[in-house]
Amino acid sequence: MNNKRVVVIGAGASGYFAAIRTKELSPETEVVLLEKTGKTLAKLRISGGGRCNVTHNCLSNSELLNYYPRGRSFLKKTFNHWNVKDTIDWFEKNGVELKTEVDGRMFPITDSSETVAQLLEWKAKKLGVQLITNSSVVTIVPMPKEGYYRWQLNFNTGGSELATDVVLAVGGFTKESQYNMISVLGIDIVPPVPSLFTFNIPDETLHAMHGVSVPDAKVKMVGFPETYNGPLLVTHWGISGPAVLKTSAWAARWMNEKAYVTTALVSWLNLNEEQMRVMLNDTLLSNPKKLMSNIVIDGIPRRLWDYIMSRAETPITKMAADLSKYEFNKLIENLLRMPFQTDGRTMFKEEFVTAGGIDLAQVNPNTMEMKVVPGIYATGEVLDIDGVTGGFNFQAAWSTAAAVAKAIAN
Ligand SMILES: Cc1cc2nc3c(=O)[nH]c(=O)nc-3n(C[C@H](O)[C@H](O)[C@H](O)COP(=O)(O)OP(=O)(O)OC[C@H]3O[C@@H](n4cnc5c(N)ncnc54)[C@H](O)[C@@H]3O)c2cc1C
Repeated sequence: MNNKRVVVIGAGASGYFAAIRTKELSPETEVVLLEKTGKTLAKLRISGGGRCNVTHNCLSNSELLNYYPRGRSFLKKTFNHWNVKDTIDWFEKNGVELKTEVDGRMFPITDSSETVAQLLEWKAKKLGVQLITNSSVVTIVPMPKEGYYRWQLNFNTGGSELATDVVLAVGGFTKESQYNMISVLGIDIVPPVPSLFTFNIPDETLHAMHGVSVPDAKVKMVGFPETYNGPLLVTHWGISGPAVLKTSAWAARWMNEKAYVTTALVSWLNLNEEQMRVMLNDTLLSNPKKLMSNIVIDGIPRRLWDYIMSRAETPITKMAADLSKYEFNKLIENLLRMPFQTDGRTMFKEEFVTAGGIDLAQVNPNTMEMKVVPGIYATGEVLDIDGVTGGFNFQAAWSTAAAVAKAIAN
């Protein structure tokens, strides 16, 4: 007989999944799910543009790790307990079929996050999870060692709950002070900074091209070691698209330290210098009598080509064959490393997460239990784990929650 009483704080994706999996693996365990607001799964409902990007079709655990700027080596162990295949199987076994889009993102076939939310709510109810809403936990107090319950959770409403085990599933916060309830327990917090944002670039000639996109650009921040590629979109305020979002995720802390005033170098095609030179040379050689303004470069939209030529000060009335070496080199430079001064960031509306949270050095990656405070576990975004766009954050929520449930049930 298992007399555990598990209290999960936070009825978001990871809290619900931890509660459900605990009941599935250990039906006799009493599970209470606490939510501070009147609405459960609020973030999940608006996620993925209202479609909920449940996971990413990446069945290799080692490849999956490459999508996590923070938490990569930690998740290596956690994914052994629950990975993408487990997520797909679990949802399908419970009647929610997932489909894969061309970029690998997986959504419910209904294209509605409501399908996912309703499944989690129904399943939790059916398994006997006790849901308490409108109760914000303000303090977690250790009970005397000789007693059965290890923790007392006090609410803003004056009420309280007793627990043998506590699961922190409170999500990410924007200010370090919002983690006080956790840090007073002796758990270290890595200060939060935003991840997944687009770049503000104060350049009206760029803004005038809003809507223009390229399928595979490269973005390199001056002073930051890595380069990221993918589709890039020009917006009313700067640049966006997967290449920019990826850069923002990996360079999140670095850009925050620089107050988002940095220089981004954009290569408009995913080519190295030699390939770019060959491509431009071949294009010009095959159109010797065409005016530069009429040259067409594969993968570069017309308006963008005009912009690139204007930044390179290319004489557009010259014929291709007459372009000087200096003019050719200036074009290459602007195709390969066009500099943009960033000045601020704009949140990406489709998906955003917080980098930072509970310091992973203090957490057991197999059980999600705090090494410094036994009996306290954490799942989802409250941990210093975040992924790039594409369903990776939900996958981390499912995996960390499943690992907690397994540990508690054992
Ligand atoms: C607009 C948007 C779109 C997104 N789209 C995607 C996507 O397509 N794919 C993807 O992988 N990720 C996406 N994400 C990220 C993803 O939603 C999160 O990573 C995920 O929801 C984290 O789940 P969680 O359970 O850890 O936290 P949350 O979903 O934030 O849930 C935490 C819950 O805890 C409650 N809570 C907090 N403090 C207390 C307290 N003291 N007492 C009681 N309750 C408390 C909160 O009210 C909340 O309900 C998106 C995020 C946003 C904001």
